[in-house]
Amino acid sequence: MKILVAVKRVIDYNVQIRVKEDNSGVVTENVKMSTNPPDDNAIEEAVKIKEAGKAKEVVAVSVGEEKAQETVRKALAVGADRGILVKVDGVIEPLAVSKILKKIVEKEKPDLVFMGKQAIDDDCNQTGQMLAALLNWPQATFASKIEVKEKSLEVTREVDEGLETIEVKVPAIVTCDLRLNEPRYASLPNIMKAKKKPIEQVSAGDLGVDVKSRIEQIKVEEPPKRKAGIKVASVEELVQKLKNEAKVI
Ligand code: AMP
Repeated sequence: MKILVAVKRVIDYNVQIRVKEDNSGVVTENVKMSTNPPDDNAIEEAVKIKEAGKAKEVVAVSVGEEKAQETVRKALAVGADRGILVKVDGVIEPLAVSKILKKIVEKEKPDLVFMGKQAIDDDCNQTGQMLAALLNWPQATFASKIEVKEKSLEVTREVDEGLETIEVKVPAIVTCDLRLNEPRYASLPNIMKAKKKPIEQVSAGDLGVDVKSRIEQIKVEEPPKRKAGIKVASVEELVQKLKNEAKVI
């Protein structure tokens, strides 16, 4: 079995996001970038399946600027066998990413595609679903447990009501939740070894995918500042304020 894992380079989750003065987007210059957190879970799961002898190869793919190579390299350092970087300049929308990933899937012919459930920069939660639709493959989204069977997967999903377990036939798309596993850290020897692993570079143009934006971003604004809280002296006062001021009870 071969597993393709999509990894996106995003602003690190610890960074305090700042909006650009002209409201055209967020500041990314001199800002720490990392792998999108659920994509770390996706790589970890693929590597674990390989270590369990149920997969032969794990291929990491990222779509983005030249620097997204670092994200692919990190996936190689935690156990992926080789990488693919699809070079695109500027912002790229989920539909274009999924069209690119479709081309990569057609070339690589993986049995499974693992992705994150959502990218923390745009919060779209669309790419996996769009890729499944384009390929006409089954999808299991928000996976918090994956069991590999003969020609299918049993996937436990995080849904509003709790947990749902479904079975999907392979080939399939799985989008991974943060609860799926505990991603490992890359050890220094593995970081060094990853430098020798191959990363193939292609451009969206080589794949014949039009990456033009379909969405016009009008402006980006900071959320309104939250007012400071207050301390109340008693439960009675709290109830009175919730009733008469906040009007929530
Ligand atoms: P989104 O639909 O933008 O919330 O992203 C969902 C998932 O799709 C991410 O967690 C990644 O696994 C994958 N993905 C989105 N954009 C990219 C990208 N530029 N390169 C690689 N994978 C991506």
